[in-house]
Amino acid sequence: MSNIVTELLHSIPADPLTGAVSIPIYQTSTFVQDAPGVNKGYDYARSGNPTRAALETLIAGIEKGAAGAAFASGLAAIDAVIKLLEAGDEILAVDDIYGGAFRLFTQVYQKFGITVRYVDTTVAENVLNAITAKTKLIWLETPTNPTLKISDIEAIAKIAKANHILLCVDNTFASPALQLPITLGADIVVHSATKYLGGHSDLIAGLVITKEKALGDKIKFIQNASGAVLSPFDSWLVIRGIETLHLRVKQHCANAQAVAEFLQSHPAVSKVYYPGLKDHFNHGIAARQAKGFGGIVSFILKEDTVEAANAFVTATTYFKLAESLGGVKSLLCHPAQMTHKSIPEEIRRASGVADSLIRLSVGLEDADDLVDDLSNAFKKSKISTDKKTFAQALSF
Ligand SMILES: *Cc1c(COP(=O)(O)O)cnc(C)c1O
Repeated sequence: MSNIVTELLHSIPADPLTGAVSIPIYQTSTFVQDAPGVNKGYDYARSGNPTRAALETLIAGIEKGAAGAAFASGLAAIDAVIKLLEAGDEILAVDDIYGGAFRLFTQVYQKFGITVRYVDTTVAENVLNAITAKTKLIWLETPTNPTLKISDIEAIAKIAKANHILLCVDNTFASPALQLPITLGADIVVHSATKYLGGHSDLIAGLVITKEKALGDKIKFIQNASGAVLSPFDSWLVIRGIETLHLRVKQHCANAQAVAEFLQSHPAVSKVYYPGLKDHFNHGIAARQAKGFGGIVSFILKEDTVEAANAFVTATTYFKLAESLGGVKSLLCHPAQMTHKSIPEEIRRASGVADSLIRLSVGLEDADDLVDDLSNAFKKSKISTDKKTFAQALSF
């Protein structure tokens, strides 16, 4: 067996028609038929497009699944999975869930009779204890956004299987370069390919991969019936991103580890969330189920206020203030005011997203430059290293 990266690169076929090394962008809506129903495998581009099909085959192979489907966004991919359910069904979801998924579950699907309960999945028994006769789907993200909680995929997959419940893992943060949920027992993997798979902050895309072909056929049916397909050009961009995924993720991990260790030693920081730190709650599980700890680091300031976070996130040079993550350039964001704004305050705080929590997407710049940037931002924003002194200074 060759190395997985070698295999990945050579699993992307040359164009069968012309031999083009880069898969062509088949920018067409329809395909000529020889007779009604007699075609070359494609009839209409919502149902199937060769560029999109190349991506779907590629991602199924990388995630060790039977089938892949590409969608217009990560949320469209999540939406397709939820459409497998029926009114009356219940989802058990990780409590620190992606804000957009929370909004979709509560503000769109609740009114159709699909309910969601949130569980602290970092302890597998919590999932077992929360299951009811209505539970049809367990929804995990690991690591989570933005508090980098880790759940034991293998243990939860066993619980799901024993209770005939589907397990879906949103693998966006780890990416398949680090973690393969299907090999750990998951039935479905979803991705926001907008992040590490695309990798260059230049597209919006989503993917669903299923372990079994039969489930993949249901997803493909929903993909065609609902129609949120990924365009040929964006499919091509994701393929191109995937070609360097392993190389990029390796450097993201190394840079993030350096940044996390710096933050942990900084006097203005009260807590650092990074699975690669030895004191992370599930560091052992992360080390066992993934090849690395990823490129996202979050931290809380000692002065835990929105104002202090605002001062910091506008004081960096290389870390640009923006939503999203997983690109070559470093980004930072303030979830309480940005990605997690749609989550009610009490629920947000209870899941560990403090008022001053700042999330970093550590990019591919030089690690020393990134650490210097953060160090300078602490000085420039005059973030207090002592909560009391800062409060007194404010009241003065
Ligand atoms: C960004 C993101 C999504 C949503 O993906 P879009 O491509 O923005 O629709 C879903 N899950 C996670 C973990 C994400 O980070």
